[in-house]
Amino acid sequence: MQIQVPDNLLSLDNILPDEPLLMMGAGPVPIPAKVAAANGIVINHLGDTMAQIIEQVKLMSRYVFQTREGHILGVAGPGSAAMEMAVTNLVVPGSKVLSVCNGFFSSRLAEMAQRVEAEVVRLDIEEGLSADPKLVEQYIVEHKPQVLTIVQGETSSTVCNTQLADIAAIAKQHDCLVIVDAVCTLSTMPFNMDEWGIDAVITGGQKGLSCIPGVSLIGFSSKAWQFIQARNDQLRHWCLDAKLADQFWYKKSYHYTAPVSGILAIHEALRLVCTETLDVRFARHLRSSQALQAGIQGMGLDLYVKPASRLNSVVGISVPNGIDGKQLLSTMSKRYKVEISGSFGANIVRIGQMGEQCRTHNLFRTLHAFGASLNLLGQKLDLPAGMAALESTLDLNGYADEI
Ligand SMILES: *Cc1c(COP(=O)(O)O)cnc(C)c1O
Repeated sequence: MQIQVPDNLLSLDNILPDEPLLMMGAGPVPIPAKVAAANGIVINHLGDTMAQIIEQVKLMSRYVFQTREGHILGVAGPGSAAMEMAVTNLVVPGSKVLSVCNGFFSSRLAEMAQRVEAEVVRLDIEEGLSADPKLVEQYIVEHKPQVLTIVQGETSSTVCNTQLADIAAIAKQHDCLVIVDAVCTLSTMPFNMDEWGIDAVITGGQKGLSCIPGVSLIGFSSKAWQFIQARNDQLRHWCLDAKLADQFWYKKSYHYTAPVSGILAIHEALRLVCTETLDVRFARHLRSSQALQAGIQGMGLDLYVKPASRLNSVVGISVPNGIDGKQLLSTMSKRYKVEISGSFGANIVRIGQMGEQCRTHNLFRTLHAFGASLNLLGQKLDLPAGMAALESTLDLNGYADEI
């Protein structure tokens, strides 16, 4: 045998920290025990048991997307695979796409549209601001796109497109299909697929849903689904061809071997959302994120985005002058075992507020780790004032049990 067993192999015990880090970054986020347990099970990918699970995943997804008629499919792959599935199936080569870009992920949608040879017009929104429906309308009138792509929450710049419903309504008036990336926002804040007239909504597992990475969901409107069925050109992506995926998701037959463990995990994540109910879950996320924001400001630090455009699901904090963001992250994880995220551009660090991240105990530990690490690095701030602001904003007497 020419190739020998590699030397010095470590077991996972020797690689992973003794105590897991608290994942408070922009994803992946902590998963509930039920989700973790489901992810450890393998069953047959076809047959009655799987069929029953698939039916429930579709039913629960319709609730979470708020759609009666939406055509729901699962995707074996990251949020990006679901994004690519939306783009590949709804964008015909040579057609026109308007991509509203607020940062890294919305630009990824533009790049995906380019790769399927659409003529892509980018509308780059000024850093730190939400897209303005009037400006989007001007672009739609001028360029007459067949498809518009947009994010609800831009995780990279921590901006929220707060007027998404208006933008979708304008697109609809001009007969333009709307693809929305709701990876970080779904189940953390209102999203009404039918009411807003969204044609494709994408989510990943590891963010708002508090599930594992690598298994995603997509919902198509009936208009979008008709469009897909009427297409007779051959898609370039075999795995992401929605008509083929439909074999598994609606016809109990084989497309590719579905990631059964991941689908079981998504089932549990969705079931926990249904048990909590969307309204209660939205309120928990809002309260938690606002309390975190109050705590950060209470220490004397600045949030990156103004309140009117601020995303609550991922909070961007300006790195104070003289502090190295990377050093801050490593101090937090080494000393306090709390992980938060750096940035893709602006000098910010980001704390996630998605799913299990929005729990009182995680908030206190994270804010303390954040302030104490900055202190260690020489930043002057008022840590007790920040902790007090977190506590009083949470209104612990009223909400301790819920959160
Ligand atoms: C994380 C994220 C994605 C990409 O998800 P992956 O699972 O990393 O492919 C896309 N859009 C948004 C808004 C995200 O936050």
